[in-house]
Amino acid sequence: MSILIVGGGHAGGAVAANLRQLGADVPITVVGDEPHLPYQRPPLSKAWLKGDAPFSAVGLRPQSYYEQRGISLRLDARVASIDRGARTISLAGGETLPYGTLILATGAQARRLGLAGEDLPNVHVLRTIADADRVKAGLVAGRRLVVIGGGYVGLEAAASARLKGMDVLVVEREARILARVASPPISSFMQSYHERQGVSFRLATGVAGLEVREGRVTGVRLSDGGTAAADMVLVGVGAVPNTELAEAAGLVCSNGIAVDLEARTSDPDIFAIGDCTERPLSHYGCRARLESVASALEQARQAAAAIGGGKAPAPEVPWFWSDQYDLKLQIAGLPIGATRIEVRGDAAQSKFAVAHLDDDGRLCAVEAVNVPAEYMAGRATIAKQRAG
Ligand SMILES: Cc1cc2nc3c(=O)[nH]c(=O)nc-3n(C[C@H](O)[C@H](O)[C@H](O)COP(=O)(O)OP(=O)(O)OC[C@H]3O[C@@H](n4cnc5c(N)ncnc54)[C@H](O)[C@@H]3O)c2cc1C
Repeated sequence: MSILIVGGGHAGGAVAANLRQLGADVPITVVGDEPHLPYQRPPLSKAWLKGDAPFSAVGLRPQSYYEQRGISLRLDARVASIDRGARTISLAGGETLPYGTLILATGAQARRLGLAGEDLPNVHVLRTIADADRVKAGLVAGRRLVVIGGGYVGLEAAASARLKGMDVLVVEREARILARVASPPISSFMQSYHERQGVSFRLATGVAGLEVREGRVTGVRLSDGGTAAADMVLVGVGAVPNTELAEAAGLVCSNGIAVDLEARTSDPDIFAIGDCTERPLSHYGCRARLESVASALEQARQAAAAIGGGKAPAPEVPWFWSDQYDLKLQIAGLPIGATRIEVRGDAAQSKFAVAHLDDDGRLCAVEAVNVPAEYMAGRATIAKQRAG
């Protein structure tokens, strides 16, 4: 029974390794449409933009790891379709590969705005090494960067660009940055911190269009009628799960490919893991799509255990981190069911935590800035209070 993994990102690379660690003695093939060995994306908006790190700084494992363990890598190869009846997948070039078990680890792609001029060479998204290299090439001191979207990726890139001496403006449609993913105290602290580093913000401001001159974008037209001049634009407005293959194959999908706690899809022979999935959250009694390394790795372990006959891993409390300047934001849990927050520590010292509690005083989530102990304790408390 061969195992075929579609997508050679963080989840795809991890599940191949997990399967071998569990002793799976069957052919394993990873088909990925990027030309690189499986790598980590988090550094792309952080260390990768700031320095000259080699690929080995972001690669999950060296080539020899896959060779020694008989894991075949088909890189630069795109899977175009799945034939569930025949148990085969077709590559974009027409080749057909059989599978006994299929694992979809297709991740997500950067959301685009659909604006005229968005495909011009000084307008970027940040999802792949290729994207990050293009952004890095444009990070030149004194030039003007407009970041559209005040989410984690946009803010991390803004910090990296500021450290390179760029003039940075973040345009955010909502009334606060990080509106979807962090509490108001964290949003206002992060905004102030960025402002002290010289980043400007336009909040509650949409983008009406791009100004184009001689094949380059020269400015971003704002919903209030103004224009922000730009030498480079970064569109950081979230990610869309890559579910087309699964949908075309008739697998159940909603906001991602629907999976259970074994990472199994509606077809028992097909698993899905990582950013492309909508998964159960056992600590919260609901389902969601998480975009985090922790979730991708947890699901890789779930799928490997289910396929390889290992013990199912205990459900993990979701966790996430973001590095900006010298700030380390660590988040454990999700504020689902929370009705109040408590701020502990001192934001003025850039060391504080925000606890999210429900009506019964149970901890739902903790956001910790430069206080790893609060994060660790919070994560343990959530695991204990919300077990099963
Ligand atoms: C800039 C950036 C910063 C981030 N920072 C953090 C952070 O600080 N902390 C954190 O927890 N998370 C962070 N994330 C999120 C994290 O990187 C993702 O959650 C993680 O990469 C998910 O892994 P994945 O394997 O599901 O998807 P991906 O890593 O996206 O891998 C999916 C792979 O599948 C390929 N693929 C898709 N369709 C096909 C096909 N049909 N055929 C072949 N190949 C295909 C894709 O090209 C891609 O290579 C960040 C993400 C980005 C982009």
